[in-house]
Order: sequence, then C-alpha cells, then structure tokens
Amino acid sequence: MQKEPITLTYDAIVIGGGIAGGEAALNLANNGYKVVLVESRLSVGGKMIMLSKVFPTLDCSACITTPKVSEISRHPNIKIFTESDITSIDKLGEQSFVVKMTQRPRYVVAEDCTACQLCEQACPVIVKDQFQYGLVGRKAVYIPFSIASPKVAAIDIDNCTLCGACEKVCPPGCIDFTMKPKEYIFNVKTAIVATGFRLYDPTNVPRYSYGTAKNVITSIQMERLLAPTRPFHTILRSSDGKVPDKIAYVLCAGSRDDSMGNPICSQICCMYSIKQAQLLLGALPMADITIYYIDIRAFGKGYDEFYEQAVSMGVRFVKGKIGKITEKENGNLTLRYEDVATGKLKEAEHDMVVLSVGVKPNKEAADLFKSHKLELDGLSFVKQSDPLLSPAKTSIDGVFVAGAATGPKDIPDSILSAGAASTEAISYLNQKSQ
Ligand SMILES: Cc1cc2nc3c(=O)[nH]c(=O)nc-3n(C[C@H](O)[C@H](O)[C@H](O)COP(=O)(O)OP(=O)(O)OC[C@H]3O[C@@H](n4cnc5c(N)ncnc54)[C@H](O)[C@@H]3O)c2cc1C
Ligand code: SF4
Ligand code: SF4
Repeated sequence: MQKEPITLTYDAIVIGGGIAGGEAALNLANNGYKVVLVESRLSVGGKMIMLSKVFPTLDCSACITTPKVSEISRHPNIKIFTESDITSIDKLGEQSFVVKMTQRPRYVVAEDCTACQLCEQACPVIVKDQFQYGLVGRKAVYIPFSIASPKVAAIDIDNCTLCGACEKVCPPGCIDFTMKPKEYIFNVKTAIVATGFRLYDPTNVPRYSYGTAKNVITSIQMERLLAPTRPFHTILRSSDGKVPDKIAYVLCAGSRDDSMGNPICSQICCMYSIKQAQLLLGALPMADITIYYIDIRAFGKGYDEFYEQAVSMGVRFVKGKIGKITEKENGNLTLRYEDVATGKLKEAEHDMVVLSVGVKPNKEAADLFKSHKLELDGLSFVKQSDPLLSPAKTSIDGVFVAGAATGPKDIPDSILSAGAASTEAISYLNQKSQ
C-alpha cells in the first residue's frame, strides 16, 4: 500500500496526449525542458491515431502519427503517464504550480507485458470496444488497439469476473489483481492544456435514429471502417454485414443548430466527409455516395480543390437539410429532406447513413484548476485571453492552451497552436527565470 504520494519535479506539464499535447511536449523537450505528459486514456495519440487518412493530402493517419508518438514516448526529456487523472492544479506563485494526479491500475505490470495477447484469447468476457466506437467487441483484458502506445494489456476491472483465466496463460506472469491506484505530486513551472474535444452525441436528436436504426453510424465509426487498422477488412453495414452501395452523409449533424445544443460550425465535418467519400469510392468503386449539406465550408489551403476532386470523382452533393431518418424493414433508411434547389420536400433511400457529428468542448479542463480560475468561453471551450495577439494564453498567467481545447480545429491548426503554446511556455520560463 502506497503511504505517501510520489513527488516529482518537471519544468512543464502537458495535459492531454493527443496530437496537440504531443507536439507541445516535443517542442519543449527538444528545447531542453523536462516535461510530464498526462493522458487520461490507456494510450496517447488522441483522435488522430484512430483516423483513416487525412484531408487534404490523403496521407495515412496512423503512418504519420505513430512515428511522432514513438518520438514522444522515447524522448529522454518526456515522462508519460497514461490512464491518469489530474485531481488538482494549484498555482503557488510565478513558475510554481503543484499538480496532484492519480494513476489508475492496469492490473498488468507494464514493464513485463510483451503484448502477446494470449490473455485476450483466454478471457471469456466480451464487451463493446470503446476504441472501435462500439463497432466490435473486445475482451475484459485487452490491448487498446494495435498501434496503442504503450502497447500493453490492461484489465477493465468493472467487467472482469476475476475468473483468473488470463493469469493462468500469461507467459511472464505479469497480471496482478492486487494493483492499487498510485498517487503523484508534480512540482512544475508551467502548464499546457491540450484536452481536445468531445464528439457530439447524436442520440440527442432522436429523429436521426442513431442507436435505433443499425445502419445509421457516425463519422468516427466510418473512420474506423476505413482505417488501415480497421476492425473488418471491408466496409460492412451493421444490421446484416452487407457491403453498402448507396451511402448518405448528413452534414452539420449536431452543428450550426441551437435546437441541437450546438450553434457553431464544427469546421472539420465538411472536409472529413469529403475525404471519407473519396476513400469510399476507392474501396467500393461502384458505390453511390450522396452528401446532404447546408453549406460546404472548404476554407483551408487546398481544401476547395479537394472538394472539386470529390465532385469530379462522382460524389453527389445535395443542398438540403435532413428532417428525419426512418428505418425500413430491410435495414435501409429513408431520408426526408428539404431540397433547397427546388424548395420541395423530398425522400431518398440509402442503405447506410453516416452522421457527420460536430465538435463539443471538454468542459472538465476548467475543473482541474483550483487556486485560480481557468476561464471558459461562452461555448465552454478554454477561453483565449488574447485571441488575436497571443492565442495560446489563458486566464492564468503561465498556463497555455493548445489544439481543439479552444474550439474546433483540424490537424494542421492543432499543430500550429501547439507550436504557439510551447513557444509561449518557453518564453514564460525564460522571462521569469532571468
Ligand atoms: C471523424 C473525424 C475525422 C477527422 N479527420 C481529419 C482529417 O482528415 N484531417 C484533419 O486535419 N483533421 C481531422 N479531424 C480532426 C482531428 O481529429 C483534430 O484536429 C485533432 O484530433 C485535434 O487534436 P487535439 O490533440 O487537440 O485533441 P484530441 O485528439 O481530442 O486529443 C485530446 C487528448 O486529451 C486527452 N484528455 C482529455 N481530457 C483529459 C484530461 N482531463 N486529462 C488528461 N488527458 C485528457 C484525451 O483523452 C485525448 O487523448 C477529424 C476529426 C474527426 C472527429
Ligand atoms: S480474470 Fe477477468 S480479465 Fe482475466 S480472463 Fe477472467 S474475466 Fe477476463
Ligand atoms: S498481459 Fe501477459 S498474456 Fe496479456 S499481452 Fe501481456 S504478456 Fe501477453
């Protein structure tokens, strides 16, 4: 039993191990600063490590994320804690923050696990795999996903029956049911908040039938179906395993609509849907893909050309707001929509529907700060105290923000903002230590 928290000292703490947090940590570490990176999930990499390819270049997301993740994981100036929750951050004075953190037990000794997966084969418990967004099952003992970092098994103790089957087959004997949470205290001089975003929950809009109609999925589920590390080796619809040939995208599903609880444009959904449509035409050349949209927002460098490329590949764009999605007996979906070009109400049948879900804030970031208030903006994203001239500054001097924690951002913008946050942090460290 741990009697006292383990106390460690670093120059900076980065909260969140997505692409923004990883990039910020790497910049600080490459400049000679000691960094602790805290991630609440079992693996670093955030959403990006789970994507298929990225717009507008169509580079393989896993192929560009994994070398970066590996650089972060091996960097001598970076210490990573996964499966960890920060409980409080107090600012005692300039360049003096005290962070309390709890690391949850994996019930597997990470240093000894060889990722052989024999435990997974032996475990009789199957639950929904949260890393595959519920598309497939996983065992109660599991490696989060094939390119997870660290690639180490963990036991989901809430679903484990303690039958001991995994323990019997584990070659190095590294399963340990007696593990307890570990408490840490970090003394740091500066902090970067990179807690990212949540996806809009489409069950808030019953007329989309998500969760009731099996062949209505979300865009992040489609990312998994298209990814090189995907659960199946093709695109299958959930109700009957049929390869779909008439797929619809519903843009702004949980964006730009106050009645859905999200008035803002999520910025990334038009582009990732156009990307997925192109990838689908690569995987299923005979498929018919229709994108129902309100406006196409393709504002970044090369983005409009990317949209034109989708049009020339045969993706159909229909300007129309979807009112209702109804499931037919054969699993197909009827979409009722207002066709803006004619002003008429129309219906169309598709065999799979993808909801291009929007971006919501991770409000919890503010609760971590106890002595000083980390202010949020009117939508509950982290407030930038000087959005025009110093976009990485927050309401607390010495605390900076990176990535989608301040609002919807694509990967290039998340990386840019991570550069800004780490540079501001370095300048804060240099100024105050002179
Ligand atoms: C379906 C879909 C497709 C996309 N496709 C593209 C694309 O093709 N091209 C492109 O440019 N962009 C794309 N994006 C956008 C891209 O995912 C984001 O730009 C990127 O993930 C933002 O990175 P981030 O690090 O800010 O946030 P995230 O990826 O959300 O990472 C945040 C990390 O912080 C962790 N965290 C949260 N709270 C805490 C806490 N309290 N303590 C510790 N850790 C915490 C989370 O677990 C997570 O690992 C897509 C997004 C979606 C949803
Ligand atoms: S002890 Fe738990 S994790 Fe191990 S095999 Fe049994 S149910 Fe699965
Ligand atoms: S816990 Fe044991 S059996 Fe499971 S992957 Fe690790 S080494 Fe293999």
